[in-house]
Amino acid sequence: MGVLSKRPKGTKDVLPAESYKWKAIESRMSGVAELFGFREIRFPTFEHTEVFTRSVGDTTDVVQKEMYTFKDKGDRSITLKPEGTAGTVRAMLENGLLNEALPQKVYYITPAFRYEKAQAGRLREFHQFGCEMFGSADPAADAELICLAQSVLGLLNLDDVRLEINSIGCPECRKSYQEALLAYFNAHLDALCETCHDRLRKNPMRILDCKNPECAEIAKSAPQITHYLCADCQAHFERVQRYLQEMDIAYTVNPTIVRGLDYYTRTVFEFIADDIGAQSTVCGGGRYDGLVELMGGKPMPALGFAMGLERLLIAIESRGWKIDPPTPCQLYLASVGEAAAAKAVVLTADLRRSGIYAECDTMGRGLKAQMKYADKIGAKTTAVIGDEELASGQLKIKDMKTGDITSSTFDTLCDDIWECLSQKEPRNPREIREEMTNDLGEELVQRFMSHMLGGKISGTRNMPEIDGFDDLKDLDKE
Ligand code: ATP
Ligand code: MG
Repeated sequence: MGVLSKRPKGTKDVLPAESYKWKAIESRMSGVAELFGFREIRFPTFEHTEVFTRSVGDTTDVVQKEMYTFKDKGDRSITLKPEGTAGTVRAMLENGLLNEALPQKVYYITPAFRYEKAQAGRLREFHQFGCEMFGSADPAADAELICLAQSVLGLLNLDDVRLEINSIGCPECRKSYQEALLAYFNAHLDALCETCHDRLRKNPMRILDCKNPECAEIAKSAPQITHYLCADCQAHFERVQRYLQEMDIAYTVNPTIVRGLDYYTRTVFEFIADDIGAQSTVCGGGRYDGLVELMGGKPMPALGFAMGLERLLIAIESRGWKIDPPTPCQLYLASVGEAAAAKAVVLTADLRRSGIYAECDTMGRGLKAQMKYADKIGAKTTAVIGDEELASGQLKIKDMKTGDITSSTFDTLCDDIWECLSQKEPRNPREIREEMTNDLGEELVQRFMSHMLGGKISGTRNMPEIDGFDDLKDLDKE
């Protein structure tokens, strides 16, 4: 196939049959992030290359092998964003947000680009949902962030993914660790790959994250950072763990996690979905207390995480969670003859303005072909306008599932359709609520729904005053 009809390797088209799933998970993610006080930030898809070489680190796989870097026509070195944190820090600094009230908390949903060996769950253009928090050095912030990630995963029905945490200490305690690593890897020099020889000189910790199987084997028995933490880092790590225990967040400590980017300090963590194959890390994050300063700002502690949307979708689908498809066509308004067709066009516009998903013929098809199309798009109801309907202003709405007929008129069509549909449609709010409560727990759901529906939160037992949600109040009393 020629390049015109074949997408670049490692990229994906998200077709309408899939895109609604993306929208569903994105809205859940941003909804939860906002509950935790994070607000959306949008930033460019590309940055000056130095934003990444500086922050991600020039001994990392990302910088050494994976970046999409090119010269633009002004001879500037530009890189397509391989991750979201560095760009966020650049934007926070450039726009002075770190001079405002702390902590600053932002989230994003962004494409990211890495020249990797494309395979299931590993793409060259992929998408990340990320949350970043600036200003707090307190273990409470680490716990808040991990709790946020866990709540997002919970709302995506992924509460069985494993949380692994580690502390990789501060530059101070890492000095003695680096020495121990240097001694260890020097003794195994012959078995290390070419790149790791270079890493040994520049940043021996990077060898622990090398994907080469021989290097990985040697790395298994390397000294572990947890034995080299200074008293402050040790205390911080213990406090984070105590918070997690008190918040009922299950975790294991995995002393081999170092993360693939250089900017991390102290707490690092990953959420792992064991059932989705080799690319099983659905979320990675941690503290990066030195990054803001490294990027030219005043010293400021910070932390964040990113989730890979493609991997999350694989995990969601492998668990059989069916995401509700978009509402199917609510009324197909068929017509016979030119005048009727014109009337159908205008009526359809009215229906849509009143919030009803209606369709009419725009293909010049005969009645039979129109009805076939209505069936194909799963229209819930249909009505036909012909000469008789034009003359009388009356028409019949047919329920396509039950065959029931309801009389209507051109003037009352909108109301009558709403009436027809409300008997079977919108999904019972009680069901939605129960479904979410199972995922997230009672109180968080109440707040989530209040928030999403624009209601006020006044006391944990109050649901917002919104049509159709009245019965939830009764539910609360039960
Ligand atoms: P991995 O070890 O799988 O290469 P990473 O450590 O490089 O992951 P991060 O830089 O922490 O990943 O990115 C955060 C998340 O983004 C990962 O946990 C993963 O879900 C997702 N991700 C990273 N690289 C890719 C990719 N090439 N394709 C799809 N998703 C990815
Ligand atoms: Mg990687």
